[in-house]
Amino acid sequence: MSKASEIKSYESRNEVNKYYICESCHIGYPLSIVGMLKACHTCNEPHRGNYSFFDSTIPSLVDMIYEYYDLKSSDKYAPMFESHRIAIVIFYCTLAEVLMDRFLSNVMNAKRIPDKVQEKLMADNQYLSVRVEKLFPVLTGHGWKDSLGKAGNIDKFDYQKISKHFMYISKVRNNMVHRGSLLVEKGEIEHCIDRINPLIKLFVTLHNLYVHPFYYPNKAIDLISLADERILREGAIKD
Ligand SMILES: [Zn+2]
Repeated sequence: MSKASEIKSYESRNEVNKYYICESCHIGYPLSIVGMLKACHTCNEPHRGNYSFFDSTIPSLVDMIYEYYDLKSSDKYAPMFESHRIAIVIFYCTLAEVLMDRFLSNVMNAKRIPDKVQEKLMADNQYLSVRVEKLFPVLTGHGWKDSLGKAGNIDKFDYQKISKHFMYISKVRNNMVHRGSLLVEKGEIEHCIDRINPLIKLFVTLHNLYVHPFYYPNKAIDLISLADERILREGAIKD
């Protein structure tokens, strides 16, 4: 493995494992900053343990991406196998989709939307683009683009770029799956690798913006309108 690949791989594995969640107020935080404190820096409740922010699916996906990426890096003169490029695209897409799924489920759980309704909402809105454009605004009360801007202001990062990229990669993947198109443009793999860390951080910040306030009543909660609540109970989103 090359030195550069080793460093990138280490950083991403580190990034995904560094976030913890407060079991009381559900704020996500990097352990390096406040994890050693005995009480939560936000709600002040004592920590009873360190709870990883992400379940094991996310670190596993990041590992799988790097396993294929490292195969390429082992011989810098050999071209990367097309099958390895395809694998990286597929795993990166899955990573973005799983992060979005987890986020939406956390919002729905926080809002105490019944399981059956949750299942219906997810089943009716299966594609990532539909979840971003329809389900996200209904559940959070905020548009996707505005939310990227808000999260970007907090983290001082251009998340619009990350979003555009994963929507594009999602289309590339769909073309592979549905039309048998196997074209992965040069440079696309490096883009995926470089965007793993910001993608992970984006979903921690979105969680802190839209899930954490439900568990921390001292903060203003962005409640969606009663009309939207009715739509959610009925389990259908109208155009
Ligand atoms: Zn807390």
